[in-house]
Amino acid sequence: MMRFLTVSDEVVPAIYSLSIKDRFPDVEAMLGCGDLQPYYLEFIVTMLGVPCFYVQGNHDRVEYSESGEEINAPRGCTSLEGRSVSHAGLLLAGLGGSIRYNRDSGAQYTESQMLMRVWRLAPRLLVNRLRYGRYLDILLTHAPPLGIHNGPDFPHRGFRALLTFMDRFAPRYLIHGHIHRSYGFSAVTETRYKRTMVLNTAGYRLLTVDAPAPGRATPADTEAS
Ligand SMILES: [Zn+2]
Repeated sequence: MMRFLTVSDEVVPAIYSLSIKDRFPDVEAMLGCGDLQPYYLEFIVTMLGVPCFYVQGNHDRVEYSESGEEINAPRGCTSLEGRSVSHAGLLLAGLGGSIRYNRDSGAQYTESQMLMRVWRLAPRLLVNRLRYGRYLDILLTHAPPLGIHNGPDFPHRGFRALLTFMDRFAPRYLIHGHIHRSYGFSAVTETRYKRTMVLNTAGYRLLTVDAPAPGRATPADTEAS
């Protein structure tokens, strides 16, 4: 069993607080789903003393250090962008960014670019299945899948490619951000899609994930590939 704190999009006073450790004493790892400045993830990691895995949002900003260096990445955190890692027996991977809706330089992808990213990740997931008996436990994204927790406007539309991802690789969880609850968007933040629980973490949530049974066979394992 693993206790995660998941965050994205909004700086939450209960988290950005010196009493964070008292509030969340048993969190064992944290997951960031984008649109947060590096200082925020670094604060949580430092205060809780736990590992952090994250993907990029479409609005991730560049910060500068005192010596003028560009800080693109939160220090002490591991990017899952386009890769898969095993942590404490759980298989994690990430595909950040949002649908491309303007010419900004932020992480935005067309539907076909996102599908390409899914297929580029696939060989790693196949290795996972051979080694661990399953493709993946948790996929971190910034944008939601198409039709699940989407906002009413195009920038907050989800990716069809993430539906394809869940159809093919059946992670136990897909955790996304991007859909701020304070905008009055979808009030629903948990939706089951086939074998995957889709969770919106805009703000924060606490998530307990059971350890997988070793070599657990899933229906996906018996599909022809
Ligand atoms: Zn966003």
